Amino acid sequence: MKFKHERLVYNKCKVLRIIIAVVFIIKKLIEWIRKIALKGGNVYCCICKKSYLTFLPSGDEPQAHARCPGCNSIDRHRQISILSNAIIAQNNNCINLLHIAPEVSLSEAFRKNKKVNYYAIDKFESGYHYPKYVQAMDLTDLKFQNGFFDLVICSHVLEHIEEDTLAIQNILRVLKPKGICYLVVPYFPELEKTYQNPSTNTDALRFLHYGQYDHVRKYGTDFSGRLTKAGCHVSIIYFKDNYSKPEQIKLGFLNAELIFQIAKKD
Ligand SMILES: [Zn+2]
Repeated sequence: MKFKHERLVYNKCKVLRIIIAVVFIIKKLIEWIRKIALKGGNVYCCICKKSYLTFLPSGDEPQAHARCPGCNSIDRHRQISILSNAIIAQNNNCINLLHIAPEVSLSEAFRKNKKVNYYAIDKFESGYHYPKYVQAMDLTDLKFQNGFFDLVICSHVLEHIEEDTLAIQNILRVLKPKGICYLVVPYFPELEKTYQNPSTNTDALRFLHYGQYDHVRKYGTDFSGRLTKAGCHVSIIYFKDNYSKPEQIKLGFLNAELIFQIAKKD
């Protein structure tokens, strides 16, 4: 009987694997058809370097004109791409780049760039698949030597980390003296003070208080001060200011976010 039970479980797993594979193939097929159907000249994605009829909505509460039909990048990915490519271009030599919780569209572009020594890390969680080029590592305990990176990219990560000051200090430690990090967080300008409630100890409560089950705080306008207190030199990049409205539409920066550029203090 035990054998029969094991056989049943094995068959169930096999069926499940086939279903997952079929769903994956269908999803890829839809993406491919969408990419072909939306070819056009109205908008341009700076990551996949292709033109389309439009950007697509993105997110649980969909933001219009956000997602690239080709590489699936959204506004903040394209912002980071523009800023990072400027840093890469400024350097005559290869740069060491650390990408934390890497976004696929950016990873693919950086990995193809011959001027980038690319390192990607993430805190692995069970049930998720991570590409081979991503190392399992905790941002609060980086295993890289001091002063190794020219550029660190950390977008929408800190709001998941209890010890965010420790994470920031780890980033500072691995930056070269002139290295910089681009930080992006969900930012709530209506909050003067970052909101964190110690009683939010369940997924449901975190969702209720922070809008996502795995967030641990909402950053307010004191975020820059928190970074300074953690030891950073901070500059805020108001990205949209560099582009006219037609350019924002064309390049997909309508939903552009604030970028916090941090570096070691002199
Ligand atoms: Zn794209």
